[in-house]
Amino acid sequence: MQILRSIEEVRAYTRAVHGAGQRLALVPTMGALHSGHLALVRTAQAHAERVVMSIFVNPTQFAPNEDFDAYPRDERGDLDKAEAAGVHAVFLPQAHEIYTPDAATVVSVPSLATQLCGGSRPHHFAGVCTIVSKLFLITGCDVAVFGEKDYQQLAIIRRMTLDLNLPVQVVGHPIERAADGLALSSRNRYLNEAQRTEAPRLYASLQAAQRAFEAGERDAERLRALVRAQLEAVPGLQVDYVSVVDAADLQPIEGALERPALVALAALFGRTRLIDNLVLTEP
Ligand code: AMP
Repeated sequence: MQILRSIEEVRAYTRAVHGAGQRLALVPTMGALHSGHLALVRTAQAHAERVVMSIFVNPTQFAPNEDFDAYPRDERGDLDKAEAAGVHAVFLPQAHEIYTPDAATVVSVPSLATQLCGGSRPHHFAGVCTIVSKLFLITGCDVAVFGEKDYQQLAIIRRMTLDLNLPVQVVGHPIERAADGLALSSRNRYLNEAQRTEAPRLYASLQAAQRAFEAGERDAERLRALVRAQLEAVPGLQVDYVSVVDAADLQPIEGALERPALVALAALFGRTRLIDNLVLTEP
């Protein structure tokens, strides 16, 4: 596995891959790798001969009061896991390699970035779009794989890629969960024992909505209220939002569900913010 630290090294790597007539798939991550990330690698391997993983805790997607400094970092462990998963190259830049001090360009998709997580993280998705567009352009990847756990992020990246005519095939990967249903996340390692015991109730609340939907419930507000009530009963959990939105354009649904709907939530155990979602589709 090659370790690439500069943009120049990445560009040379991509030239070699393309020169050999091969496709390159990118798996962007912020490290602290878990089996969700490694599942993305397997999807990437199914789409391209070569897989490059980026590991970069992107400062521009964190607000000053968020956990950028405390975000888990484990370069040695990550490199071992990436290599064992068959990643061909890892791009591990320092922040100054990515952002010059006078950088002034921001990429954003405002119509998709204000709802859901955008409510409490108003600048987050502009940071995400800026780094992802830079990673697409730096790596020259043909394919990029993103998890559906960050459903809004995936929708925004698909929109950005279309709108900017970026020559990248964006591939989604389903949410990987622990055996008890908790969506895998680098932030799960912040949870104390009591919080970890309660955390599967996030997914359980979404499953309750799914069961209600399967039993015939189609009212968006009642489904939302059902999920919210379940979350509010979890000790120590503070609900950020529960939303029922159109799964295609993320706009709120008033009244009855008529198209596939995304039920999405964010909630905090102390300072640890967890997200999860589920799509309700007519059988
Ligand atoms: P992160 O390192 O948290 O920025 O995540 C990097 C990529 O892995 C993103 O595309 C995430 O959506 C994806 N990812 C993280 N956790 C999961 C999971 N549990 N299941 C599927 N994809 C995930």
